[in-house]
Amino acid sequence: MTTATEVSVRARIADEIRRRQRFVLSSHVRPDGDAIGSQLAMAFALWQLGKEVRLLNHDAPPTPMMVFPGVPKIEVASRIEDPGDAVIVMECGELSRTGVEGFERGFVINIDHHLGNTGYGTLNWFDTSAAACGEMVFDLVRELGVELTREIATHVYIAILTDTGAFHYSNISARTFDICRQCVEAGIDPPGIAGAIYDSNSLGRLKLFGAVMSKMELDSSGHVATVYVDQQLARDCGGTYEDTEGIVNLPLTVKDIDAVAFFKEAGPDDWRVSMRSKGEVDVNAIAKQFGGGGHKNASGCNASGTFEELKLKFQRLLLQQIEASRKTQT
Ligand code: 5GP
Ligand code: MN
Repeated sequence: MTTATEVSVRARIADEIRRRQRFVLSSHVRPDGDAIGSQLAMAFALWQLGKEVRLLNHDAPPTPMMVFPGVPKIEVASRIEDPGDAVIVMECGELSRTGVEGFERGFVINIDHHLGNTGYGTLNWFDTSAAACGEMVFDLVRELGVELTREIATHVYIAILTDTGAFHYSNISARTFDICRQCVEAGIDPPGIAGAIYDSNSLGRLKLFGAVMSKMELDSSGHVATVYVDQQLARDCGGTYEDTEGIVNLPLTVKDIDAVAFFKEAGPDDWRVSMRSKGEVDVNAIAKQFGGGGHKNASGCNASGTFEELKLKFQRLLLQQIEASRKTQT
């Protein structure tokens, strides 16, 4: 639901955008589809208004995204000298999570749908009911009165498709489909977009999927899955860490698995943890305990320890969340 306060913040952001000329658009480290889609939808809207736009992230876009309009224009850097007339940070809960130094000197517009956004901007607009930050960008594009071109609509749809886990997560609303309907009317190609994102695997990636899944473990309840990858496993399959993107979603395709943790070895006893869940099972509550964050059904954090220790710890925490979700439902 959109509140009156949100409408006035959005109008204020639109005003500030109209008054300014040079923009820098950014998002979080290791950008995902919502980060890239939101940035590019915003960029095409600003270009339509005759603005100058720089797109700048700490990490390169996921390779499959490179085929979409404007994505190769994204610069990769970890500091910026000139933050322009305004920096628009989308889909990012904390300014430090951009991984870029120098934004703090600029006029920062913070547009986000994550729970617990720190409000780091000069202007802050949050809407945790949005299924993707791309939904908010869509509303802002409408507010700015620019035409919903095929490029803008394509990027809004990419943001929504990827951030809902291809229409699986519980944050989807009627508004989500209404926005998608308008994107289809604007001429987007839904099967083409889904194919470019989900059916563009390399052989190494598919083999890595097989290797990782063959090591999947279940806890004693049968409802919690854990999977992991380390450098050795990736090398053996001829794949890379980037190729593991999306693996975390696979265990949830099993009917009885309600939550999954995927551990990626970042260094000795240092792991990057991605969690996914179904329905009311809240993985964000766990990520927060480790200084991470995200959404109820998709969150991430870093954790240190041996894999065996962490596996047991996360199995226990995930089972607790599953049990808590059952209590709220009965
Ligand atoms: P993933 O598991 O794909 O890395 O991330 C899932 C979701 O959690 C995304 O919305 C992502 O932005 C968020 N997320 C992942 N890791 C972190 C983290 O370390 N801190 C915060 N605040 N959010 C995270
Ligand atoms: Mn998002």
